[in-house]
Amino acid sequence: MTEMKKIIVVEDSPIVSKIIRHVLKEYASIEAVFAMDFAQTKTILAELDEPPFAALVDLNLPDAPDGEVVDYMLEQKVPTIVLTGSFDDKKRAALQAKGIVDYVTKEGRYSYNYAINLVNRLYSNQNIKVMVVEDSQISRNLICELLKRHLYQVVSAVDGIDAIKVLLENPDIKLLITDYNMPRMDGFDLVQNIRGKYEKSDLIIIGLSAEGKSNLSAKFIKNGANDFLQKPFNQEEFYCRIIHNIESLELIEKIRDTANKDYLTGLYNRRYFFEQSKPMHEDAFEEQTPLSVVVLDLDHFKSINDTYGHDVGDQILVQISDILSSALSRFLLARAGGEEFFAVLPGLDNEKAIEYVDKVRSIVSSTPFEVGLDEPLYISFSSGVSSIVTESLDEQINRADENLYRAKDAGRNFVVGDDEIDENV
Ligand code: GH3
Ligand code: MG
Ligand code: MG
Ligand code: MG
Repeated sequence: MTEMKKIIVVEDSPIVSKIIRHVLKEYASIEAVFAMDFAQTKTILAELDEPPFAALVDLNLPDAPDGEVVDYMLEQKVPTIVLTGSFDDKKRAALQAKGIVDYVTKEGRYSYNYAINLVNRLYSNQNIKVMVVEDSQISRNLICELLKRHLYQVVSAVDGIDAIKVLLENPDIKLLITDYNMPRMDGFDLVQNIRGKYEKSDLIIIGLSAEGKSNLSAKFIKNGANDFLQKPFNQEEFYCRIIHNIESLELIEKIRDTANKDYLTGLYNRRYFFEQSKPMHEDAFEEQTPLSVVVLDLDHFKSINDTYGHDVGDQILVQISDILSSALSRFLLARAGGEEFFAVLPGLDNEKAIEYVDKVRSIVSSTPFEVGLDEPLYISFSSGVSSIVTESLDEQINRADENLYRAKDAGRNFVVGDDEIDENV
């Protein structure tokens, strides 16, 4: 779910406002309020419950001819994108020094698209953690400042050794910007060290290379960096490089998700399940540690479809998947197909796994599912759990599947483990 973000657009030209309104129609998650001058801006801001997420501000307004609204927004700590008819290098430098996010020249639809895209970018950046590794305090502070202006979460380290420590403490770091020349451990050693553990598609590394040493850039890339930036860099180039790299990473993540996840429920798919569970199973087999396999199937699901339609069935599948994924968040869970799910519970023996799955069963069967009907629907699942780890994972899954059928035979809304089989056989 994308959350709604409110922005303010301050623009006196009705034509420009009209184009922006038009562009905004493509962005369902952005809601804009419009002001025509400085006075109106103040009134609108006072009326809002919370400050806007971002502002698009015309540099020249009738009652604020010299960027006064820009200063005003920046004082209120609102990330500000400047709209301007024209600018020169001096003006641009002055604006950037003030702390604006970016500027856009009013050159047609594309520039407004760019500005609105940037708002979305800023919004996503709030969830992206970046580490800056740089021994020079001035340079480190400057880079951190630029990143914060684009709302990234920022952490920093003073050399390679420190960076490894910070990375271990923050495994969610997505992007690392590192200087070359640093005490204790330099940028190359750091990159080599990190690349032993993180792929280029898991963690972006951008190397900083000082001017005049052009072979540094190539060396950074050859050592495993994704990209490099020549120092000193200008702000726009800095942001462009960062955004470009983050967008590539997001694209890779999207492709990965498409390959590994089920479209309807967002759970992992069968193929990914087998890919991930094989090594887990091998470890358990070799080390003789407990590992339980769970097969789970919704009860009488066909009758839900037959009675209420396929759409209602889909909604139930989505809602049950949400419950399962939070209840089993510590474990590997997948939609095996249709209304059937697989899970692997390493470390849990048969008794513990049954107990665990039975709790999930009781949560699901007591949940009223709201699917747009007059009354909520109730649905249960049955499950087979097997914890006999033999050489073959398939064999263990088959045994869990047999246990599932016993659970169905026993009347459904029930969990059956290995012990019950012995009793029944
Ligand atoms: P049992 O308790 O024995 O498992 O009964 P059941 O009706 O759940 O089992 P059955 O295998 O007869 O039917 C499974 C149904 O699940 C049939 C199929 O239409 C439905 N189903 C499978 N995938 C989807 C899906 O993606 N969406 C919807 N709405 N239904 C699905
Ligand atoms: Mg240095
Ligand atoms: Mg079923
Ligand atoms: Mg089934």
